[in-house]
Amino acid sequence: ENVEKEEKEAEKKGILEKILMVEIKEKDVEEALEDLELELLEADVALEVVDALKEKIKEKLVGKKVRIGTDKEKIIEDAVREAILEILTPPRKIDLLEEIRKSEKPYVILFVGFNGSGKTTTIAKLAHWLKKNGFSVVIAASDTFRAGAIEQLEEHAKRVGVKVIKHSYGADPAAVAYDAIQHAKARGIDVVLIDTAGRSETNRNLMDEMRKIARVTKPNLVVFVGDSLAGNAIVEQARQFNDAVKIDAVILTKLDADARGGAALSISHVTNAPILFVGIGQGYDDLMPFDEKWFVERILG
Ligand code: GDP
Repeated sequence: ENVEKEEKEAEKKGILEKILMVEIKEKDVEEALEDLELELLEADVALEVVDALKEKIKEKLVGKKVRIGTDKEKIIEDAVREAILEILTPPRKIDLLEEIRKSEKPYVILFVGFNGSGKTTTIAKLAHWLKKNGFSVVIAASDTFRAGAIEQLEEHAKRVGVKVIKHSYGADPAAVAYDAIQHAKARGIDVVLIDTAGRSETNRNLMDEMRKIARVTKPNLVVFVGDSLAGNAIVEQARQFNDAVKIDAVILTKLDADARGGAALSISHVTNAPILFVGIGQGYDDLMPFDEKWFVERILG
């Protein structure tokens, strides 16, 4: 008799639960996302990435049952944070120091990115950081195209105390990189950083050039350097490089000059590669490890 009573109670409770539950409708989510959409666009997240994010959030929420009285806004806000974090947290995490330690010498890093993105400065920052962590470094001046590129790189390298391997302007960038690797092999140098050109010309295709350098050097890591101020353009840039030479990791520059840094979200979405560092100034120490959680708050304002 007692059992029967308990069963009845349970059934009553079940019915009550059902009445107390409401389903989140597409309309609720769309309304809530209107503000978010504006916020993200203002933070410089590319439009196609905002759309993809909205779909992801809808998938998480539409049809979900919540108890009457729960704060729907809070639920949606949590889903937004979760979706952004998912985009910013790619499948593969990279512990660069650990990878270099366990790699055969030299560990080769190929840097790609358009002119003005901060590539040369970033290479010097990374060389500085690697040296601080006890690794020896050599840099390949494989931008043999832009006037002044080699001297500029040498100036940076001198300041951080790293040797540059160079040929003359117009030389084959892949041959320069190859020489740098041979130089490192002969001397037991731990890391080779390859600087590359950042602009196409009519008689010279930048992506073909990147493919060739990658084929010749077989880099352990391809790093895309992107300017966080580039806004929507960064999506197209990252996609082009990713198609030519698969991007393994990203360094996002000029975050100190950027209001919100939505570019991080755009790049992660397009490349599915982790953001290793962010550049936060022009000094050689202005390189900071990327922290997704901190970033979500920054983007959401
Ligand atoms: P590259 O053409 O891609 O090699 O670009 P450079 O390394 O020459 O950098 C272009 C400009 O951006 C230079 O004036 C750099 O000092 C500046 N720059 C690079 N990284 C940062 C950064 O994180 N913050 C700021 N504020 N400026 C940066």
